[in-house]
Amino acid sequence: MEIASNITRIREDFPILTSTVHKHPLVYLDNAATTQKPWSVIKKIEDGYTKQNANVHRGVHFLSQMATEAHEAARATVQQFLGAAHTHEIIFTRGTTESINLVAYSFGETFLKQGDEVIVSEMEHHSNIVPWQLLQQRKGIIIKVIPFNQQGELDLTEYASLFSERTKLVAVTHVSNVLGTINPVKQLVQIAHKHDVPILIDGAQSVPHIAVNVQDLNADFYVFSGHKIYGPTGIGVLYGKEKWLDAMLPYQGGGEMIAQVSFEKTTFNELPYKFEAGTPDFIGSTALAEAIRYVQNIGMDQIAAYETYLLNYATDKLQQIGDVHFFGTSSHKSAVISMQVGDIHHYDMGTLLDKLGIALRTGHHCAQPIMKHYGIEGTLRASFALYNTTQEIDALIAGIERVKQLF
Ligand code: PLP
Repeated sequence: MEIASNITRIREDFPILTSTVHKHPLVYLDNAATTQKPWSVIKKIEDGYTKQNANVHRGVHFLSQMATEAHEAARATVQQFLGAAHTHEIIFTRGTTESINLVAYSFGETFLKQGDEVIVSEMEHHSNIVPWQLLQQRKGIIIKVIPFNQQGELDLTEYASLFSERTKLVAVTHVSNVLGTINPVKQLVQIAHKHDVPILIDGAQSVPHIAVNVQDLNADFYVFSGHKIYGPTGIGVLYGKEKWLDAMLPYQGGGEMIAQVSFEKTTFNELPYKFEAGTPDFIGSTALAEAIRYVQNIGMDQIAAYETYLLNYATDKLQQIGDVHFFGTSSHKSAVISMQVGDIHHYDMGTLLDKLGIALRTGHHCAQPIMKHYGIEGTLRASFALYNTTQEIDALIAGIERVKQLF
């Protein structure tokens, strides 16, 4: 579906977009933090609790079977959306953060020894740094860091030179939540595989905005969060190649993840259940599948094209204001703009824009190494989604102009 000509109808799908904030129409430009939800997703959650709520997998009764079928159908929807080879390669988690922690723990416990190395990049979200540091504390591993240049692009020559005999895993983001850079993931995978090293891709900021096919990328692990792709909070995905997931130790123990339990010996369930201890978020999974159907109906290519149009429109207009410094100017960019306006503190700018109903994010965006790179404490960040409009960007520009006049 062509978005620009259908934008009024698309916006009607998102009830929150008609809200007013401080007596102004809401202009929601904080989509990298979380996205708003369409009626179809909200309705799915309501239906989950009003029509088919029962615990999954263990019940013989009607409701339990219905809930189980819906939960497993959701797994198949995610598999097809990501282009994974098998449904059992899709593990439901709480989100990107839990997916990365799962891999850091289970892959780390299974395969890493003191002195082994993990490569991450300087542009990672804290959730793709700290789990590796926890592993470092437990196991004495070494973390190596791929630097990025002033445009916010990874240095691939430096990346290639970081591999050694001891490198066991690479973990990098597909799209930076601060710089917007779309990293050349296929190339990153190829370089890792040349050294026989598996690679985890953080897809939190890519999956909602561009088409992703994990088999085409040949990624070993790929992770994302439901709430950033118009789905509910508390549900996310870990895709992992069967060969890795099969070999890895479980992450958490409990119900669902076992085959047999006795005090003498416990055996573990098959994939994907080995990694899904406890009652899963089966309402969340079905609502996530609904969100995926929503973006698929519009088309990932249409979404990417429309958001690029918004990015270019906003960048041009912001440049015209003058005195706006951009962090992240790669030509391969997703619709995220991090900036500093004159010498107005990002926090002041964000607070005053809020008074005009405009929601932006300020601060370090959980990526303090990026801030350190530029020698700053934080930025003002506008991030776009499929329901944003050029009129909203005009409101942002007018808002920034107004705040500038105040200073
Ligand atoms: N990775 C990236 C690139 C992100 O932007 C975020 C959230 O902003 C995360 C990971 C963490 O996602 P969550 O908080 O949904 O687990």
